Amino acid sequence: MMMAAEMRSPTLLERLPAVRGRYTENAALDRITWFKVGGPAEVMFRPADEEDLIQFMTEKPADVPLTVIGVGSNSLIRDGGIPGVVVRLGRGLAGITVDGTEITAGASALDVNVAITARAAGLAGLEFLSGIPGTLGGALRMNAGAFDAEMKDVTLSARALDDSGRVHDLSPAELGFSYRHCDVAEDWIFLSARLGGTPGDTAEIARRMARIRAQRETSQPVRTATGGSTFANPPGRKAWRLIDQAGCRGLNRGGAMVSEKHCNFLINTGNATAADLEGLGEEVRRRVFEHSGVALEWEIRRLGVSVGGPLRDSGRTSS
Ligand SMILES: Cc1cc2nc3c(=O)[nH]c(=O)nc-3n(C[C@H](O)[C@H](O)[C@H](O)COP(=O)(O)OP(=O)(O)OC[C@H]3O[C@@H](n4cnc5c(N)ncnc54)[C@H](O)[C@@H]3O)c2cc1C
Repeated sequence: MMMAAEMRSPTLLERLPAVRGRYTENAALDRITWFKVGGPAEVMFRPADEEDLIQFMTEKPADVPLTVIGVGSNSLIRDGGIPGVVVRLGRGLAGITVDGTEITAGASALDVNVAITARAAGLAGLEFLSGIPGTLGGALRMNAGAFDAEMKDVTLSARALDDSGRVHDLSPAELGFSYRHCDVAEDWIFLSARLGGTPGDTAEIARRMARIRAQRETSQPVRTATGGSTFANPPGRKAWRLIDQAGCRGLNRGGAMVSEKHCNFLINTGNATAADLEGLGEEVRRRVFEHSGVALEWEIRRLGVSVGGPLRDSGRTSS
């Protein structure tokens, strides 16, 4: 007769290839994302470096769902967590180098560190990155932008890994940036990018970065648990104004609240669940639609499954 241990099917962890990086089962995600909510990753993989990630992608079983996250400043992880493997890029992909007017940075480099490197090298045009609290990979995926500049304006090329472990060097046309969107397949992982600056005066660049910091401090709830702009601006409209006009400023549900400071930001006032935040977002969408006829689209990425059901949505449009 077979022993019980021989009959059980292998765990996800047991099916994954040997790597130099680190696997963690049942890894808490609420500690690492800005909203401070959400269930765990079934397995989190932190690759040691690029080669380790490429090897993992080449050898992993094809049926394993995969999600990549940066620092979670634009993501709402649902309370049921994320099934499959969550890839979290770390130090091994955070290098930043300067060559003339070009900066090459790894996908897990923080946007602010890219901006600081550009300032030190006297390169203008990348100051806007100092105000975006994410990683370069997240910025490429979202075509992140602020203060009239966005990734589209500065990206010369990007390298990305497809689901089978092949590396692609992508031109701006292939990246297909548009407002808070890029055309690269959702299951590809950005590894690095080349960004272009223009020679500028270091003191002036520093002043622009200081102005950006000051403006953000006064206009956004940057010191609270939030996820940035919740909804994309509809063409020719401002989401925050539509939300304000629909009377949603300060609206709350459980521990979730529409920020009084910037009403396109949802905040976790302390004990919100992801369901509170998502439910409040849906309520805002309902009220805005009722008031102005505009159907807001989620800009924040909602990842994983809710506790009550097998909902899975990493896209922008809410049903
Ligand atoms: C206070 C605050 C202010 C903000 N202000 C701005 C702003 O002014 N402008 C702006 O554009 N955004 C802003 N954001 C949103 C956010 O910072 C950006 O979208 C940022 O680029 C997300 O980076 P991240 O590393 O946190 O991505 P995450 O939230 O971790 O991920 C976002 C998406 O990118 C994908 N992703 C992450 N890394 C990779 C990778 N290496 N390869 C492929 N896909 C990847 C994820 O799968 C997910 O779909 C703000 C957020 C906060 C909390």
